[in-house]
Amino acid sequence: MRTPIIAGNWKMNNNPAQTTEFVNAVKNQLPDSDKVEAVIAAPAVDLPALLAAAKGSNLKTAAENCYFEDAGAFTGETSPKVLHEMGVDYIVIGHSERRDYFHETDSDVNKKAHAIFKNDMLPIICCGESLETREAGNAETWVQEQVTAALKDLSAEQVSSLVIAYEPIWAIGTGKTATSEQAQEICHIVRETVKNLYDDVTAQKVRIQYGGSVKPANVKELMAKPDIDGGLVGGASLDPQSYLQLVNYQ
Ligand code: PGA
Repeated sequence: MRTPIIAGNWKMNNNPAQTTEFVNAVKNQLPDSDKVEAVIAAPAVDLPALLAAAKGSNLKTAAENCYFEDAGAFTGETSPKVLHEMGVDYIVIGHSERRDYFHETDSDVNKKAHAIFKNDMLPIICCGESLETREAGNAETWVQEQVTAALKDLSAEQVSSLVIAYEPIWAIGTGKTATSEQAQEICHIVRETVKNLYDDVTAQKVRIQYGGSVKPANVKELMAKPDIDGGLVGGASLDPQSYLQLVNYQ
């Protein structure tokens, strides 16, 4: 069985003091990590505070991005090697905001996925279509292509352990959630894509999150869908009480 994984994606919000305060408010009320994995993805500048406060608790940690080289002349980038040394568990890659505003390509996402595995962490790989693509009837093909490109040359074992987040761009930060049927439909396509690229065993192991205006009021319905194993949550993960309701949705 796949362990559900609910990850808050703070984006460029919160400073180190707010991070510590948040973790202290939630850390004793988190589910057992074999029941639901509770993750916070924080800005790089907040990671030392996040890691220190989360130590010894059920909270898993994630970076929101990294580079694909371990070290060198890459001004302003974050090393996956150092993130691992710090104790980070997951790294979110290919978020639509990174793709749109910072020109992250499918090939970058794939290189980052390889670098993350090389450094013994796990990627949360984001995919998702724009409204224009959906309205043109191309959402399925778009997501299939993004997933195929992101997973290039990864082994079945690696793919079994990673997380794919399906986040329709039109549902991010808009308050406009995909219906649970729409979310299930594309999450199923993601699993089928993995099955076609690898095999059924791998497809049954990979965890698929839905993201886009997930909140305490809709998390249960989304999580009840057979191909949705978790949520990647922006806005609703910033408030400790709301975050606790999300991770304790069961
Ligand atoms: P949202 O963001 O929950 O605020 O829509 C989701 C995301 O971008 O990961």
